[in-house]
Amino acid sequence: HNAKDQGVEIRRYVPAMQMKAKERLKLENDMRRALERNEFYLVYQPQVHLDTEEIVGMEALLRWDHPKRGLISPSEFIPIAEESGLIVSIGEWVLKTACLQNKMWQNAGYQPICVSINLSMRQFLQPNLAGKIGAILSDIGLEACYVDLEITESMTLDKETTFDQLKRLKELGVFISIDDFGTGYSSLHYLKNMPIDRLKIDRSFVQEVMEDSNDAAIVSTITSMAHHLKLKVTAEGVENKDQLQFLRQQRCHDAQGFLFSKPIRALEFEKSFLKMLRVEIPS
Ligand code: C2E
Ligand code: MG
Ligand code: MG
Ligand code: MG
Repeated sequence: HNAKDQGVEIRRYVPAMQMKAKERLKLENDMRRALERNEFYLVYQPQVHLDTEEIVGMEALLRWDHPKRGLISPSEFIPIAEESGLIVSIGEWVLKTACLQNKMWQNAGYQPICVSINLSMRQFLQPNLAGKIGAILSDIGLEACYVDLEITESMTLDKETTFDQLKRLKELGVFISIDDFGTGYSSLHYLKNMPIDRLKIDRSFVQEVMEDSNDAAIVSTITSMAHHLKLKVTAEGVENKDQLQFLRQQRCHDAQGFLFSKPIRALEFEKSFLKMLRVEIPS
């Protein structure tokens, strides 16, 4: 490369980078107002118990309906929310909204199920997180056993902080799941020592479990390990019956995926899934 070539490269790439930073900043500013403008909503995806085929839970997933851009995927805006710190207030809204929804469904007489809520790194590192969640639960009147908090392996890097935080959360009575299990920094040490309840096998392993023998080996190993460690195990991203059958053979406890349902709005979730679970009280 001579200087001229480099000059061409610089002219070609710098504007693109500036655009990206500018766009990011715009999105961040829009996000600041999104909460008060009611642009966020939650969708729910059922979690199915493989033995009984009953719905035992639902994962709450955040959606942002941007006034100009339309629906923006959480994988696009959560990282920006995380970096700017906005995730703390957005995450609190998610916690409150999901818990309130769950309580309202219980009040309506549906069979109680657990709601899984994703926590981001910044949220998880808040020293008063357990206190905040405890206050939300008692305000709403929801029992802690109907809440499952999903964290990722990367959040468990600092062993001491993680252990203390998880212990405080467990004292509240909520469940703790490790999301996207197998994709992060895996240490068997924390699986042995951390007070967790469940592993969620990342959907990248489930996707090709029938075609790729390495994926099959990984899913089988994670499931077996979970059994030995007396942890529950959920498979994410189940899209077809072959995958489901494989997971059953491996004695995976629960599954989640498009085979059962995409994440859907509360009202649709209630109509499609909760009505079937309603406890019939004879009059
Ligand atoms: P996640 O927690 O692992 O959530 C599962 C993702 O897999 C969801 O994507 C869901 O729509 C998708 N999924 C479920 N079943 C299938 C399937 O069968 N096939 C395929 N291809 N995909 C499936 P979504 O809703 O786009 O969320 C992406 C990620 O964004 C989540 O991954 C989670 O890490 C994050 N996220 C979503 N909502 C929140 C939130 O409220 N707070 C935080 N901190 N993160 C969130
Ligand atoms: Mg999750
Ligand atoms: Mg997650
Ligand atoms: Mg996941």
